[in-house]
This record gives sequence, C-alpha cells and structure tokens, in this order.
Amino acid sequence: MSAIIIDGRAVAARKREEAGARAGALRGRGVIPCLAVILVGEDPASLSYVAGKEKALAEAGIASRDFRLPRESKEEELLAVIRTLNADETVHGILVQLPLPSHIREDAVISAVDPAKDVDGFHPVSVGNMVLGRKGFLPCTPHGVLVLLREQGIPVNGAHAVVLGRSNIVGKPLANLLSRKDVNATVTICHTGTGNPKIYTREADILIAAAGRPGLVTADMVKEGAAVIDVGVNRVEDSAARKGYRLSGDVDYGPVSEKAGWITPVPGGVGPMTIAMLLLNVIEAAENAENAKDAAAGLYG
Ligand code: NAP
Repeated sequence: MSAIIIDGRAVAARKREEAGARAGALRGRGVIPCLAVILVGEDPASLSYVAGKEKALAEAGIASRDFRLPRESKEEELLAVIRTLNADETVHGILVQLPLPSHIREDAVISAVDPAKDVDGFHPVSVGNMVLGRKGFLPCTPHGVLVLLREQGIPVNGAHAVVLGRSNIVGKPLANLLSRKDVNATVTICHTGTGNPKIYTREADILIAAAGRPGLVTADMVKEGAAVIDVGVNRVEDSAARKGYRLSGDVDYGPVSEKAGWITPVPGGVGPMTIAMLLLNVIEAAENAENAKDAAAGLYG
C-alpha cells in the first residue's frame, strides 16, 4: 500500500484565503490588521522564516512592521521594543522570532508580550487558556497539525495518537490539544527518556514526529495504515544540493510512505500550515481589538 500524501500547501492555501477575506472585511471597517515581527541577530534560518512569514502576510492583506535588532542587543532593549508595541493600538500581533541569542532570557521575552497580541500562543496566559479549554490563541504548529488532520478527514476521535517530542512549542501543546474532549484522541508522549519508543509508535493510529531528528521514524516503527505527520524540519548536509544541505523531516519518508495510510511530506506538509495559522491568529487579534472597542463605545448595548 502507498500512503495518501497530505498536501499541506493546498490546505494552507485555503486557510490563507480565509485570512485574506477576513483581512478585507477588517479593512472595510477602516482597520489594517498588523503584525510586528521582531528579529534579533541574523541567524540564516530565522531570516528565511521571517521572510516567508512576511510574504504570506502581504499576500493576505496583513501589514507587517519589521524590527531588526543587532545580535548583541541587551534583553532590556528588546523588552522596551515589546512594551512600545504592546501600547500601540495599530499593532494587533507581536511575534518575536525564536531562538534568541543565549544572553536573552526567552521566558522573560515571551512573558512581556501582551497576551491579547500573543499570536504565537507561547505566553503563559495563552498556554493556560489552551490547557483549560478556554478561548485564546493556539500555538500555530500544533493547531496547524490539528486542522490538517481534520481537513484530510483522518479519524481522530478514539484514535491512539503518539507524539514524539515534548517541547513547549510543539510536542506538549499538540498532545494537549489532541486529548481535548472535542478532539478525543488517546495520547502517548515519547521523549528522550522513553526507553524504546517503537513499543508505542507501532500502536499509533496517528504518529506525530516532532523530535528534530532526521530519519528517526523508520518503517518498522509504524503501524500499517497509520497517519504519519512529520513536523520535523532538519538541515541535512548534501553536497549535491545547491546550498550544501537539504531539508529533511524526522521520518524516513520513502519506506514509511509504503506502509502508512497518510503521510505529510517535508517540505509541503506541516510547515505551510504553521504560517497559515499565524495569519489567522493575527486576524483574530485584530477582530478582538476592534470588537472590544465597539463594545466599549456601547455599540453592543
Ligand atoms: P526541541 O525543542 O528540540 O524538542 C525536541 C523534542 O524531541 C524534545 O522534547 C526531545 O526530548 C524529543 N526528542 C529528541 N530526540 C528524541 C528521540 N530520539 N525520541 C523521542 N523524542 C526525542 O524541538 P521543537 O522546537 O519541538 O521542534 C521539533 C522539530 O520540529 C524540529 O525539527 C523543528 O525544526 C521542527 N519544527 C517545525 C515547525 C514547522 O512549522 N514545520 C515548527 C516548529 C518546529 P527531551 O524533552 O527529552 O529532550
């Protein structure tokens, strides 16, 4: 059997169209949805991520404001930029591109963003709302995976989902969202403390790899007909490639696609969903801000 290849680009394109339509409606109300993007230093991967995000924002009719800080900037300088943007009503979302240089505390920076503008969904308030099942911004990659499963019609209710990885930005929130009552998967999380992940992965109806280890998931770890979602994006040296490297997921794609029922490619799977969900979060932030203003003005009684 050969797996159905999940076309993340196509699903993401539909979500980006939705974001574009809602951006148009906001503009009709005189509001230009706007994301502030902060980048500290010149890490090549971060530069390329930021460029990709800004292109997608422009295509959806969302404005972006670029803040480039030198690598040696002090934490306090970055926090001051965030405080200014928190107070700026024309900015609806704030994104600080991670990772940050090691002398800047990531926690302090994430916590400094106004939760109402936390379109990455990393602020402790957003995380708390997610865990409690309350309204709030969901982190883009885990939310994108959920949408991909739903749009592809992959049965999740009652399925056994195994997540490889427990980072704060992917594994943990993904496991949490999958176990929500309205999603209803039974979830196992594997990490570096898991003696033999294969015991669990072979039982998975849905196997999600988010470990950042190229080739980690081999065909013998996969149940026949399972849905395999590859979140991993790894640069693997390749002298034949123009840049000297190629992008690889965490899944041994060829052999696994012979056994799985569904599989996401890298690139073209989860990656495009992350950006699409970011656009939708920015739109939501702008809509929330406008609705709050209208409510304050007494338009809704
Ligand atoms: P991370 O912070 O490095 O976390 C990796 C997690 O995987 C950790 O929890 C680690 O366990 C676990 N792990 C490592 N080796 C493992 C193994 N052999 N078996 C089981 N678990 C293992 O990485 P991340 O930020 O979550 O990102 C993971 C991958 O997704 C990376 O390749 C990243 O580039 C990619 N990513 C893609 C997108 C996208 O849009 N497509 C977005 C974000 C990230 P411990 O906790 O025990 O160390």
